[in-house]
Amino acid sequence: MIRRLNLQEISEIVGNAQETLVEVPEVLHIIIDSRAVIQPDQSLFVALKGAKFDGHDFITELYDLGVRNFLVKNGYQVPSGISHEVNLIHVKDTRKALQQLAAYQRGLFDKPVVAITGSNGKTIIKEWLGQILSQQFAVAKSPKSYNSQVGVPLSVFGIEAYHQVAVLEAGISKPNEMQALAEIIKPDIGIFSNIGTAHEEGFESMQQKLQEKVLLFKDARYLIYRKDQAAVAAYLEQKFESSRLISWSEHPGADYTLSIKKDSERTKIILLKPDLGMFTFQVAFADEASLENIRHVIVAALSLGMSEPQIQEGINHLKAVDMRLTLKSGYNESIIIDDTYNNDLAGLKLALDFMAAQRPKNRKVLILSDLMQVGKADEVYQEVGNLIHFYQIDLLIGVGLDIARLRGILSCEQRFYSNTEELLVDLREDTFENDLILVTGARTFGFERIVNKLQQRIHGTTLEINLNALTHNYNFYKTKVNPSTKIMVMVKAFAYGGGATEIANHLQQLKADYLAVAYTDEGVALREQGIKLPIMVLNPSQDAFHLLQKHELEPVVYSPSFFRQLGKYCRTQHASMKIHLDLDTGMHRLGFDISQLAELKELIQQFPELIVASLYTHLVGADEATHEDFSIKQLELFSKMCSQVSNFLGFMPLRHALNSAGIIRYPAYQFDMVRLGIGLYGVEVNGLFDTALRPISSLKTTISQIKTIEAGETIGYSRKGKMKNSGKIATIAIGYADGYDRRFSNGKGYVLIQGQKAPIIGNVCMDMCMVDITGIDAKEGDEVLIYGPGISLKELATQIGTIPYELLTNISSRVKRVYYLD
Ligand SMILES: *Cc1c(COP(=O)(O)O)cnc(C)c1O
Repeated sequence: MIRRLNLQEISEIVGNAQETLVEVPEVLHIIIDSRAVIQPDQSLFVALKGAKFDGHDFITELYDLGVRNFLVKNGYQVPSGISHEVNLIHVKDTRKALQQLAAYQRGLFDKPVVAITGSNGKTIIKEWLGQILSQQFAVAKSPKSYNSQVGVPLSVFGIEAYHQVAVLEAGISKPNEMQALAEIIKPDIGIFSNIGTAHEEGFESMQQKLQEKVLLFKDARYLIYRKDQAAVAAYLEQKFESSRLISWSEHPGADYTLSIKKDSERTKIILLKPDLGMFTFQVAFADEASLENIRHVIVAALSLGMSEPQIQEGINHLKAVDMRLTLKSGYNESIIIDDTYNNDLAGLKLALDFMAAQRPKNRKVLILSDLMQVGKADEVYQEVGNLIHFYQIDLLIGVGLDIARLRGILSCEQRFYSNTEELLVDLREDTFENDLILVTGARTFGFERIVNKLQQRIHGTTLEINLNALTHNYNFYKTKVNPSTKIMVMVKAFAYGGGATEIANHLQQLKADYLAVAYTDEGVALREQGIKLPIMVLNPSQDAFHLLQKHELEPVVYSPSFFRQLGKYCRTQHASMKIHLDLDTGMHRLGFDISQLAELKELIQQFPELIVASLYTHLVGADEATHEDFSIKQLELFSKMCSQVSNFLGFMPLRHALNSAGIIRYPAYQFDMVRLGIGLYGVEVNGLFDTALRPISSLKTTISQIKTIEAGETIGYSRKGKMKNSGKIATIAIGYADGYDRRFSNGKGYVLIQGQKAPIIGNVCMDMCMVDITGIDAKEGDEVLIYGPGISLKELATQIGTIPYELLTNISSRVKRVYYLD
C-alpha cells in the first residue's frame, strides 16, 4: 500500500465517520481471505459476500488468528464474546467499500498507471510489459490475472510508494462493471488488446462489449490500439480526440507500423515510427496471438520512454509466460511446487498460499532467487522475511547475491548460494524426503533446471488438472443451488480419473461439505493423506468394517442384511457409526424398497449404534428430458419414503437425490444436499450449460518419432492403416494401456498437434499409436493433445459410442497427474 491508514481515515473514506473505536492502529494489509493473514494486528479484513462464501462467516476464525479490524455490512454483529474487543466499520456494501479504499490509494500514486483490457491477451500483455519495464523501472503489476471487481482493488493495494509505474489489467464479464474499475484504476495509458467475436455471457453484441470495455479509458491520457482491428479502430477514432490515440498496424497508415517477417528460427518485427526512425526487434515466437501481444507491449514501452535497444534487451529475457503454479511429484515422496517464472512479492505470496493449502509433509522448503523487483531492497527483503516466518518455512535455500541479506535474520534453517549452478551441484536425489518444496525464482535464474533435477522422471503422457477450473465448476454448481444446500462431491473412481487425493484436498480448501467414494479402500487412502471432510462410502465391503471405524468413514447401508451385520459389528465393538441409507426409487441397483421400510424401522430400533446421517436416492435418467416424468416420480416417492423414515426415527436426517444433471434439471428437489460428480470435472451432461463449465483436465503426450510414408504403404498391426497418398506420420506415446481406447483406431479418433487435427491411422497399440500429420509442421518431441480445451470429451465419447464418464475413468494410473493453478 502506498500509505498506511488509521481506522478513522478508513471510516471516512468508506463514508462512515461515526464509529466508536477500541483503539486506532494503522492498517498495512487489507485482506479478504482468512488464509492471507500475515500481520493480523495490522490487517483490516473486508467481509465480502460471494457465490461460495460469506466473509462474515469467517470473522471468528480471523479473530482467533489475531485480526481485530473488520469492515462489515450494516446490521452485522460479531458474536457477543468478542464484541468489545474488535473494531467494526459498518457499510452498506462491503465490496464497494473495498473499491473506495483502492480508489483512495490509487489517488496517492502520482506515477503512470497503465491499464489493459480487451477480450484476449490481457494477462500476457501485463506480464510482458511488466517484465520489460522492469529493465528500467520499479514496476507494480497485478498478480496473475487479478482483474475483477475484487482483483483490481487487491492489485492496487500491491502498489507501494517506491514503485515508478503500475501495470494493471481489468476484465469484465457483464455490462455495467467497467465503470467501477475505471474509477479505481484511473489509467494514464490504456491498452486495448482486441475484441473477440465469441459470444460472452452477459453481452448482447460486440458493439455493447466494446462500448463497455472502452469505459475504462474515458479519462486516460493515451490509448494504444491496433488499427487493423476495424471495429475497434472505428469506434475509438470516433470516440476519442486523435491526440489521445496511439495506433499501430501491420501496414502503413498508423502511428507505428510494426510489420512481421518470419524465418525458420525467429520472427522479426520491423518498427517504423512517426519520426520515420526504424528498428528491427527479434522475438522467439511466431504465433499470431503472441505477435499481437508483444507489439502492444513494444508500443506501450516506447510510450513510457524506453529505448528500442532496452526493449529488445527485455524481450530477450522473456519466455512465453507460463502463468501456472504446478504441483509435481519429486523423489522420495516429495512434492514440488513449480513456480519458476515468478519474480515479485505478490507472486511469491500467492505461491506460499498455494503451498499452505497442500497436504502436510515433513518440511516446508522454499527455494527462492533474488527478486527482480527494483525498489528499496531492504523493505522488499524485510517483507520476504515476514512471509517466510508467517508461512512457517522450515528451510530456505536462497540463490543470488541480494537474497543473502536474509542470512542470520531468519529463525528457520537456511542455506545460500550465489548462483543456480552452485545449488545444482549440491542437489541430489536424496536431498529431500517427503518434503513440500516450493521452487520460485526469476526467469534469469533458470530454476526450471532445479525442478528437472528434483522431479521424478515422467512417462511421456500426463494428465494435467487445472485446479482453478475445478474451482470455477464447483462455484458454478454452487450458484445453481440455495446457499443452505450442502454439496457432496463424488470423488469415487480416483475422482473420475483426476486423482482423488489432490482433488479432495482442493475440495477441502473450497469447503465442500461431504465427499463420497465407491469403496472403503478409497476412503482409507484419503484419510491417510490427511483429508478430514466427512466421507460417505457407497459400496462398503463387509469384511472391512474395522477400517470404516478406524478411519471414521460413513458407509451406505442398502439392505436389511447389511444393516444387521454392521449393527452387530458395532455392538461387539461398543461403538456407534454414522450411516447413510440408500432408498431405491427406481434404479433397482442397491437400496431399500418402500416395502422394506417396516423392516428398516425394526432394525433402527434394534441397533441404536447406527446413526442415520442421511437418506438418499439416485435418479436413473436425470440428464434426459424423455425421463422427466419418471424422475419426478422417483423424487416424489423419495420424499414420501423420507417422511416415513423420519417418523420412526424421530428426526429428519439430511436428504439428497440430485446428481450433476439433476442439479440443473430439478432444482426444486435439491432437498438438503446434492451430489456433484461429472459436472465438477467439466462435463455438463444435459448439454444446457456446456460453455459455462471449464474443462479441468488435458491429456497430453509427445511425438516419439516422425516417418515419411509412400503412397500405398500400411501402418501398424494387421496392416490396418493405409496411406492413400504419400505423407508423414507421427508415432505418439499413448496406447490402450494408458486408457486411450482402442476404438479410436483407424480414423475414429484424432489428436491435436500444433493446434491442428491429426487423425489416428491404423490400430491403437498397447503403448503407442500413429497419427497422420501430413501437412502439419511438427517435429519429434512436440506436444500432442489427446483431449482438453480444443477437443471435447463429449465429442470423443460420441465418436466411439460411449460416455465421457468412461473416457475419464479409463485413464491408467501410470499416467502422471499434474496439478496447476492458471
Ligand atoms: C456417481 C454418483 C453420483 C454422481 O453422478 P454424476 O452424474 O457424475 O453427477 C451421484 N450419486 C451417486 C449415488 C453416484 O453413484
